[in-house]
Amino acid sequence: MIEAIVIPGAVGAAMIAGVAWLYGAPMALRRAETARLAEYCTRTKTLCLTYDDGPGKDLTPRVMSALHAGSAKGTFFLLGRRAEVNPSVADEVSRAGHEIGCHAHEHVHAWKSAPWASAKDAAHGYESLDRWIQRGCLFRPPYGKSTALSRREAVRRGSPLGWWTIDSGDTWEKLPEARSVIQRVEAAGGGVVLMHDFDREDDDAAERAEFVIEVTNALLELAQKESWRTATLGEIMDEMEREQG
Ligand SMILES: [Zn+2]
Repeated sequence: MIEAIVIPGAVGAAMIAGVAWLYGAPMALRRAETARLAEYCTRTKTLCLTYDDGPGKDLTPRVMSALHAGSAKGTFFLLGRRAEVNPSVADEVSRAGHEIGCHAHEHVHAWKSAPWASAKDAAHGYESLDRWIQRGCLFRPPYGKSTALSRREAVRRGSPLGWWTIDSGDTWEKLPEARSVIQRVEAAGGGVVLMHDFDREDDDAAERAEFVIEVTNALLELAQKESWRTATLGEIMDEMEREQG
């Protein structure tokens, strides 16, 4: 009888420890890393514009034109499967001097799939993006969700995890007002903004693409008005590492 209680208890404790290691620890690290990033951007008056899930044949060139007009470089977290479909656009991003990071291949949600699936998808992304990325490039987990295994895959490749501090809301079910995003960034005194540059296929694709361009332009204007600098996420993270010594 006692054994019957002790064994499930031990199994339960082991399961809890496993879940904490697999999901809880990466979540705590993300929180701490994001807070450090936000603090650094505010203190150094820095704006960083990041674009995920591309490249998109139509939207990515428009985003690059907006960045060029504002004399800024962006950070593009490419999705392997989209780069394979639009290799010439990925070439353009690289040629224009923007930063390219890895965002896996298929965009597997680490918490809604088998524990090893997101690590495998990350590895696949590194392979399909090989010609555009370098060892040590940043890795941004799809949906911002990682496990100890997908995190280990990034670390194994020398990749720091590249988070964001402000979500523009461009993929939210209800698109926010562009003005509200600008206000959030202004209130934070800078930060790392998340947007998406893939070509959407929904009914409101054109509206969402316009939103991304509008927010990009408005944030670059805000940076100029506030005398903030713009930087890529890699530049920011290198500086933070040097500061920590
Ligand atoms: Zn994504």
